[in-house]
Amino acid sequence: MKVRDKIQKKIIATFLGFGLGILFAFIYSSIESSSIKVLFKAIAGVCFAYAFILSNFFIKCPRCSGSLSYSHMKGQSKTNFYPTCGVSLDEKV
Ligand SMILES: [Zn+2]
Repeated sequence: MKVRDKIQKKIIATFLGFGLGILFAFIYSSIESSSIKVLFKAIAGVCFAYAFILSNFFIKCPRCSGSLSYSHMKGQSKTNFYPTCGVSLDEKV
């Protein structure tokens, strides 16, 4: 598995968590019953927290353990190496 593939899997997991957060927030806003509403609010909060924490703290460079958060990798289709340590994104992990 290449570094690029590993990063893409974590980015997909981040978007999945964010999407689920939006889904549960939408369900939360459309439900009338207040007892179940709290549950969906909590689930949406957990999903958003998961996406935020994963994207900022768990996408790391295999060489220097520096953060490879989504904000660094937005143009990843054009990037071939990580700018701070120079690890190739096509290097095998
Ligand atoms: Zn690095």
